[in-house]
Amino acid sequence: MENYKKIIEDIYLELKNVDDTGEVANYISELATVSPDNFGVNITTTNKENFGVGDFNTKFSIQSISKVFALTLAYKFEDAKLWERVNVEPSGNPFNSLLQLEANLGIPRNPFINSGAIVVCDVLCSHLKNPKEDFLDFCKEVSNNTDLKYNEKVAQSEKKSGFRNIALCNFIKSFGNIKNDVDEVLDFYFHICSLEMSCKELSKISLFLADDNFITNKGHRILTMSQAKRINAILLTCGFYDESGEFAFKVGLPGKSGVGGGIIAIHPDKYCIAVWSPKLNEKGNSYKGMLFLETFTTKTASSIF
Ligand code: GLN
Repeated sequence: MENYKKIIEDIYLELKNVDDTGEVANYISELATVSPDNFGVNITTTNKENFGVGDFNTKFSIQSISKVFALTLAYKFEDAKLWERVNVEPSGNPFNSLLQLEANLGIPRNPFINSGAIVVCDVLCSHLKNPKEDFLDFCKEVSNNTDLKYNEKVAQSEKKSGFRNIALCNFIKSFGNIKNDVDEVLDFYFHICSLEMSCKELSKISLFLADDNFITNKGHRILTMSQAKRINAILLTCGFYDESGEFAFKVGLPGKSGVGGGIIAIHPDKYCIAVWSPKLNEKGNSYKGMLFLETFTTKTASSIF
């Protein structure tokens, strides 16, 4: 950890005032109210050491990073049957694209683009009695943290401007791949995206993907080793939409971004790292977050390749 600490501090100072060409997301109006200068990093190692710099304790909207936890819970319920509803191929398209759905008969390319996450939410609506409450309880158990909440303002703000997601959900329903009421599924989807966490909370909650021996305080295992391997594989190939190749090329770790400016990256058997900087590049991924992680895996020589 000593080695990681020094490197993280150095890169943080080096990048803090870098010329950031990104833009804060504004298609969800509440996200545009966040200060673009926020910058935080936190690492959690598999031997449970923790280190953070900058705004690592400030909560922010994790947005699409929540798709990882939704997928995990759906995978626990359905196991391999889940892949009949959502595929595991990169889409090479923006996160909110409708393009491939028609040719693919309503089966989304992967669970990390919006269409795929909406199908995952539908699967969860079929299994959970109170989807919003039960999903939050699951996240609380995985992170051993009762201080997790949805941001109702962000959820309502996305609902107001969520035309593409509404279109996606209805379109998929027309193929029969949404089983529940579209309004119920979308309300659940908008809420999971509004979940708030700090970098510290995010790197801790992701530990089950890095640590094969992870069990919760209640004594539950989250995933089998094989399931964790598969989720990491989808993260590597699909976690950054049509920039997934670029992230693998530059950073070399499985990871997931969100339009709130957060990114998590997993080094299996070593660590999870979370970075937050709200300005996004044109592909919808945090500009400084990606730069930070590229520099970090280069300086620590710790990518999976
Ligand atoms: N809630 C956002 C949306 O559906 C999530 C997108 C993202 O973080 N990439 O547009």
